[in-house]
Order: sequence, then structure tokens, then C-alpha cells
Amino acid sequence: MTLIDVKKHHHLLPATPRVNKALIGGTWHESGEWMERSSPAHEIPVSKTVAGTAAMVDQAVAAARAAFDGTSWKRLYAGERAAILGKAAELIRARAEELALWDVLESGKPISQALDEVAGAADLWDYAAALTRTLTGESHNTLGPDTLAMVLHEPVGVVGIITPWNFPFLIISQKLPYALAAGCAVVMKPSEFTPSSTTILCEILAAAGLPDGVVNMVPGTGDPVGAALTAHGGVDMISFTGSTAVGKATVAASAGNLKKVSAELGGKNPAIVFADADLDEAADALVMGAVFNAGQCCVGSSRLLVEKPVAEAFTAKVVDLMTHLRVGDPLDEATQIGPIVNARQHHRIMQYIETGNRKARLRTQAPETAAQGLFVYPHVFDRVSPGMDLARDEIFGPVLSVIEFSGVDEAVRIANDTSYGLSSAVWTGSVDTALRMVRGIEAGTVWVNTYLEGPAELPFGGFKQSGLGRENGKAAIEEYTELKTVVLRTGPRPARYVQLR
Ligand code: NDP
Repeated sequence: MTLIDVKKHHHLLPATPRVNKALIGGTWHESGEWMERSSPAHEIPVSKTVAGTAAMVDQAVAAARAAFDGTSWKRLYAGERAAILGKAAELIRARAEELALWDVLESGKPISQALDEVAGAADLWDYAAALTRTLTGESHNTLGPDTLAMVLHEPVGVVGIITPWNFPFLIISQKLPYALAAGCAVVMKPSEFTPSSTTILCEILAAAGLPDGVVNMVPGTGDPVGAALTAHGGVDMISFTGSTAVGKATVAASAGNLKKVSAELGGKNPAIVFADADLDEAADALVMGAVFNAGQCCVGSSRLLVEKPVAEAFTAKVVDLMTHLRVGDPLDEATQIGPIVNARQHHRIMQYIETGNRKARLRTQAPETAAQGLFVYPHVFDRVSPGMDLARDEIFGPVLSVIEFSGVDEAVRIANDTSYGLSSAVWTGSVDTALRMVRGIEAGTVWVNTYLEGPAELPFGGFKQSGLGRENGKAAIEEYTELKTVVLRTGPRPARYVQLR
């Protein structure tokens, strides 16, 4: 394993912290309180961001409401709205390196992954731009001689968007362009740990021609900013990504005015390898899936189910690949695993590793430097049974648990033995086995002989406690709409209920 050297790229660190403010109604605001963010790899301050307040949320919601009720955005010709979203995609590409750098500095993700993420996000803006002009609704001409009807998509109104730190720019881009495509106005709260790329996005949207007040941003902590947004009577919908616990709190807080809630939550995703699979391909893909973003990935392959006859051989391949991963400075293009985002998450992961050491068998060996800073070397545990915490909890770190199984029925049973249902992967050479697994698994995505592919055209979201609603795909724009049914009488009504005299 490569030793960690975080000094090599120090010249890329900012001389003074970047300053991020709140955006309300087109102007930048301060609260008097600031949150400082240090790079988790380099441990120096990189940004300083306004700590938003509940009062700022009130102002931002009022600005969004005014922009929405003003009708110039929601009734804008879809072609013009699409042009603004398309322009935003272009400007995102033009500022890709800057966006990626800030996500690296604040989240610790490797620069190569951050650049891919920004490119994928730009594509979502383009896709949402294209969808804008497809929101046509329905017409009904078969309801009898004198009736016509229409079903209209109306923008849902003011949307509160709350995002996490693991994919700061990708996740906001899975939400915001679709909300705008539908004609909504937005108040967004990025994670307190990764506010910079969302702030740059605000600048990009202004430059792309988005009217003031349509997008507002109040950075800050979950409490008070996120909590104020979810409970706010002037917000019509919340789109949230984060932990299942906070997702449930969001649903509860939204009950006051019965907001619509879309939530993309956690996962404990099974990767299932059958004895007839191409084991080299599967090992490569699933190791990538387990350690991508240092395992801080809601669709990561954290549970590896291997069919008994190949369990030892496959686990050995996985351990070998894990041992050769390059852990280190996320600013280095060769790095594959950066640090964990913050001390709290690091501590949480280390506790799972400690419990794992007592209850299962650790197959990987960390070098002497393993305890350095917030870095966690990849860990593979085998002899894990489905009841252990290692097999049940979302660890959100580079920790892979190996569970053995025999045959399709047992694989389906273990795969579904979780409260989550976000994603899954099946590796097999048999079409029969693949299709039986596809039908049996309770998850929003099933990858077959591949992993982590997610083009903009395909919907993304979870079964069970992994979430509500879907992002991306054709349905994404509809998430941000309400249906309005219009019934038109084209001739005399057949009978009156109350005869007029
Ligand atoms: P959280 O769910 O706490 O954070 C996600 C977002 O919600 C952040 O913007 C956070 O604010 C905000 N938030 C926190 N509390 C509230 C609240 N009461 N009301 C409204 N918004 C709130 O995730 P964590 O960062 O604490 O991570 C913990 C675990 O969650 C991880 O270990 C992982 O298991 C899971 N997770 C899953 C993600 C996914 O992609 N599905 C993403 C991130 C985490 P703040 O800025 O203060 O954090």
C-alpha cells in the first residue's frame, strides 16, 4: 500500500479560506456567525461559511415564494427555461476544475473522482434541460360526447433542498435542475462540511440568466437551518438526501403543512457473486464499489454475498486488490482513497472495525501508518453472519463484510434481510440466475455483471427505508409537480340536480 503523503500538493491549498455567504433574493447575506471548514486530508482551514439562522430561512422562503408567485418563472416558455439550464451545464463544465477542487478540499474525495462527479453532474443539467420541454400532461377525448379533459403538471411551488457531504455537487444536481425544469423556486441547504461547490453553483445560475429569488441558499447546520426549512409552512416540498434517521425526522417535520417529501436515504447494499461468475471482473468492480469515496457512498457494495464453492478464492482476490489500493492525498491524481470526511464519521467507522475484530475475521492488514489522521485503510471481514452489525448497519467507510450463501433462494433471503433497499449487484454467468435475482431482490437498482453505472436517463431511489420517490430519469421532473385535472363541458349538461324555476 502507498504511504500517505499529504505535503506533495500543498501548493493547491488556498492561502486564505474561501468565504461563502447566504444567497437570498439575489443578494449575498451574512449572519455574523461563521463555520470554518478544514480539509480532512491536510488539516488546514479551507473555507469559512455563514452559519445560517431560522430567520434567514424565513427570508429565503419569502424570496422564493415571491419569485414563484410572480409567475414569470413558472409560466416561462419551457424552451427559455431549458436554455438557462443548458447554459448552466456549459458553465459548470467551464468551471469543472474549480468545482472539483473545492469538493476535494472540503470532503477529502480523490480529485479524479471529483472531476468525474462534476462531469456527471453537468450531464444531469443537460438532461433536465431536455426534459423541460417534455412536460406535456394528458388530454382526454374519450369521455363522452360533450366532455373534454386535461391533466396539467403544475410546479409544486417552493422546494427546500437539503444535501449531504458525500457527493456535494452530484447530489444537488440530482435535485435542483429538475425542480427548476418543473418551474419551482428553491431554498437549498448544503452540508455544513461542503458548502463551497453549492455556492459556486449559485454564481453559475446567476450567470446563466436565472432570475433572482428563484434559487436561494442558506448554508448552516441541520439544526437550525435544515430543521427550520423542513418545518416551514411556506415550503411545499422537501427533497432530502442523507441518513435514514434524519430522513424520518424530515418526514415528521413536514407533516405540519403536509409537504410532499422526496428522500434518498441509506443503504446496506448486497453484492452477490455466484460461483459461475467471471470472478476477476466481479472482484475488480466490487472492490471499486466498496471503497469508492472511501466507502462513504449510499450505493456502495458493503455486503459481499459469495456462493460457498468460490467463497475462499473470491475473498482472496478481493483482499489482494484491496491491499494494492492507493490511499493518500486526495489532490494526487493517482489516489484512490482519501480521508474520511470528519472525526465523527471516522470514529464511527473505527468502532465498527473494533467490533468486527472481535466478532468476525479481519482478512486485510493495514500498514503502520494506518492510524494517521482521518484516513482509514480498506478492511475486509469474512466469517460475517447476517445478524451482525457489520452485516446490517450502514457503516459508510471502506469496510467490506463477506457472507457466504448456497443457491439463489438463500441469496435472495439474505439480500433482502435488511430494512434498506437502495441498490444491489448480481454477478453470474447464468441468465436464469440473473433474472431470478432481479425479480427477488427488493431494491431500487439491480446491477447485473456491472456496478455503479447510473446514466441520467435511469431513475434512482430506494425501496423500504432507503427513501421516497425517484431522482433522474423521466420521472424526476414529475416529482416536482402536482397534477391538476381539468374537466370541460362542451355542450349542455344532461340533467340538473336542482331545477331552476
Ligand atoms: P445527516 O443525515 O445528518 O445529514 C444530511 C443533511 O441533513 C445535512 O445537510 C445535515 O446538516 C442535514 N440535517 C441534519 N439534521 C437535520 C434536521 N434535523 N433537519 C433537517 N436537516 C438536517 O447525515 P450525517 O452527515 O450525520 O451522516 C450520518 C450517516 O448518514 C452516515 O454515516 C451515513 O450512514 C448516512 N448518510 C447517507 C447519505 C446518503 O447519500 N444516503 C449521505 C450522508 C450520510 P449538517 O450540515 O449539519 O450535517
